[in-house]
Amino acid sequence: MSTILDGKSVADIIIAELKQKADRLAANKIIPTLAIVVATADESAKWYVRAICRTAESSKITAKVIDLGPDANAQELATALSNLADDEHVSGIILQTPLPSNVNIDDLLPLIPVSKDVDAANPASLGRLAAGLSAFAPATALAALRLLKHYQIPLAGINAVVVGRSRIVGLPAALLLLSANATVTICHSKTQDLASVTRNADVLVVAAGNAGLIGPEHVKSGAVVIDVGTNVEGNGNLVGDVQAEVANIAGALSPVPGGVGPVTTALLLEQTVLAAHHNFLKDND
Ligand code: NAD
Repeated sequence: MSTILDGKSVADIIIAELKQKADRLAANKIIPTLAIVVATADESAKWYVRAICRTAESSKITAKVIDLGPDANAQELATALSNLADDEHVSGIILQTPLPSNVNIDDLLPLIPVSKDVDAANPASLGRLAAGLSAFAPATALAALRLLKHYQIPLAGINAVVVGRSRIVGLPAALLLLSANATVTICHSKTQDLASVTRNADVLVVAAGNAGLIGPEHVKSGAVVIDVGTNVEGNGNLVGDVQAEVANIAGALSPVPGGVGPVTTALLLEQTVLAAHHNFLKDND
């Protein structure tokens, strides 16, 4: 059986360190504050926001939810984001999806300043990441890398395959693997013969949002598999993109739930503390 890459214990370590960092900032009268703008009645989005708030509370970070309701219009959302951008007490900003159907998210994301863009939603953050400039990375992509780092999986020179090319997960995960000197291949919904590509992977990161997409036939013996997928089944259970049988062939596998998810939440808060720290340094230049 493969090693379980336990995200909960990695998240616990990150959160313990965050409390200490938050204490040090508090000594300088800085309270790291994450603002989450919400405009949906979607239950899973609300559940996710509550989970962030709970973890923030246990990490001595303030999480403030600006809930504009599911009927909010683009102007109301833009005003909320601009106010948060100008608010010196706000360290990080997240615009929670989904948004009302008449709102174009691409008009709103550039309103999050890169310095407060703790989930790297502004395309400018992704551009900076691609160019090797300082920027926050999307927390989920970063969580996949943090799991690999925690378990000391070597990345330099290995073959890494990412399934999924979204702006928020697949593409930044590929960029982060590249900057760790892996040889990276990206697969997507138009990739032909997926298994022939994924079987080359020493590290396989799967972020397709397609329950059970990856079976044993897609995985090389001993490969490390990071399952980013979260799919809610009819019975309400959360499952990943990777079939359970992959545990018989992979060298290590991240579970769903309990793998990438908890690390993502912890890293959102870690980036919020970092943003508060940077702003503090900037203010005291
Ligand atoms: P998305 O729908 O934006 O992108 C999915 C990607 O997978 C696309 O690039 C698509 O081309 C690719 N894809 C879909 N079907 C495929 C197939 N059959 N073969 C190869 N490629 C295929 O989704 P996303 O926002 O990138 O999220 C991906 C998954 O990660 C979802 O399940 C989402 O719920 C999950 N997620 C988890 C966390 C977390 O914290 N654990 C956070 C964000 C997203």
